Amino acid sequence: MKQKIDVGIIGGSGLYQIDGVNIIGEIKVKTPWGMPSDAITIADIYGVKAGFLPRHGRGHFILPHEINYRSNIASLKILGADQVIAFSAVGSLKERIKPLDFVIPNQIIDRTKSRISTFFGEGIAAHIAFADPFCNRLHELILVAAQKLNIPIHTNETLICMEGPAFSTRAESHLYRSWQAGVINMSTLPEAKLAREAEMCYAVICMSTDYDCWKEDEEHVTVEMVVNNLNKNAANAKALIKELVPMLTKERDCMCKEAIKYAVITDPKKQNAKQKKKLKTILPQYFS
Ligand SMILES: [Zn+2]
Repeated sequence: MKQKIDVGIIGGSGLYQIDGVNIIGEIKVKTPWGMPSDAITIADIYGVKAGFLPRHGRGHFILPHEINYRSNIASLKILGADQVIAFSAVGSLKERIKPLDFVIPNQIIDRTKSRISTFFGEGIAAHIAFADPFCNRLHELILVAAQKLNIPIHTNETLICMEGPAFSTRAESHLYRSWQAGVINMSTLPEAKLAREAEMCYAVICMSTDYDCWKEDEEHVTVEMVVNNLNKNAANAKALIKELVPMLTKERDCMCKEAIKYAVITDPKKQNAKQKKKLKTILPQYFS
C-alpha cells in the first residue's frame, strides 16, 4: 500500500477528534487482528501527514479492557506511520502534579490483568527489550513543544497502568504512591509494548484530570469538574499536536527502529506460515 501517513496520533478520554488542522479524509483499515477502534482521520499538519485514531471510538463506547490494541497499532503501521504520539487522561498520585498538568512518563508499572500484549506467539516466539518503555527522542520533542506553549509539564515520572474499569481502592492508591509513581491510567499497556514490537517510536502524553482517591482533603470531585478538566486538557492537546507534529522528522536516530532485529528466537524453518503472513503486514523486513 502507498504510504498515507508519517505519524500516528491516538486520542484518549476527552480527545475524540482533531481540529484546526487540514483534514484530508478518513480511512477504515482492516488488519489481520481485526478492525481498529474507529476510522482513522488523515490530516496534513504543516506538511506532515498524521493519522488520528480515538482509542475509545468516537462517542466513547469501548472500555480500556475491551480495546483491540493490536489492530489499533497495526492499522497505524499499515498506513505507514513509524511514530506514535498517544494521549491519555490520568489521575495524579503526587501533590505537585495538579489537575490540568501534563506528564511525559519515562517508566510504567503493569497492573493490567486480561489483555493480549503481543503480536507474537502462535508458532513464532519473540522477546523485545522493554527496560525503557517509551521513546526518548519523542520525549524530548514533546517537552520542547509543551514548553513553547507554556503547558505545565512534568517528566521522569512512573505511570501505573491498571486494569479498571473501576478506579483504584484507597489502599491501592496509597500503595502506588509508596512506589513513587506519579500518575495512573488504564490504557497505555499493552499499547506501548505493541508499538515497540512493531518497531514504532511511542510516547504517551498524560493529561491529569484529578487527584486519585488518595487525597482525602480534596473537595468532592464531581462529574462536572472532571468533564470540565477533560475539555480543557483536550484544547491543550490539540494545540500541542499542531506544535509537535511538524517537529517529527522522518529521520529516527533511536533504537525503536531495530526492536525486532534480535528479538525473534524461533528457527525461520519452524515458523508458522499463517502467523508469518500476519506479521508480514507490520514487519515486512523480517517476515516475507
Ligand atoms: Zn524511538
